[in-house]
Amino acid sequence: MNCRKVNSRLADLLLDPQSVPVKLRQHVKECAGCGRELAELRATMGLLDDWAVPEANPFFDAKLLSRLRAEGQAKPVGFLERWKARLLYGSNLRMQPLMAGALALIVLVGGGTYADLSWQSHQQSDESAAVRDLQSLDGNAQVFQQLDSIDQPAAPQSQDSGTAGPSSD
Ligand SMILES: [Zn+2]
Repeated sequence: MNCRKVNSRLADLLLDPQSVPVKLRQHVKECAGCGRELAELRATMGLLDDWAVPEANPFFDAKLLSRLRAEGQAKPVGFLERWKARLLYGSNLRMQPLMAGALALIVLVGGGTYADLSWQSHQQSDESAAVRDLQSLDGNAQVFQQLDSIDQPAAPQSQDSGTAGPSSD
């Protein structure tokens, strides 16, 4: 009976001693190494029997909430962090995306206008640019007049005497 074979049956010896051969039990009694193995295994099984799943700390939720609150109130260290926190956790939360969008729009429009103006100054003189602006304004005025003439028949009262209806050119 060699020790390795005995070691493979030590658990059986502990749980159900009658299932293992007598020769094996005899070996464990006589062999110091196998006896020590059996003792260690018995101790481990005893620990496992005593071990119970630890219950969750009843104060865990309260602690977590207070921790979160403290983190929210703590002042960030750096300037960038402060601004980031202000943008992220500001009191007017719903205004932040609007402000960011407005800022992006300003940057876009400003950049576009600047590019457009620089392009015009390169391509044409300021005078022709002004003339073009006036022409576009004139076009807009015509568009508005047309819109007014469309609106007027629907309106009950009209300021002008020309109530004959929309007249085309
Ligand atoms: Zn042995």
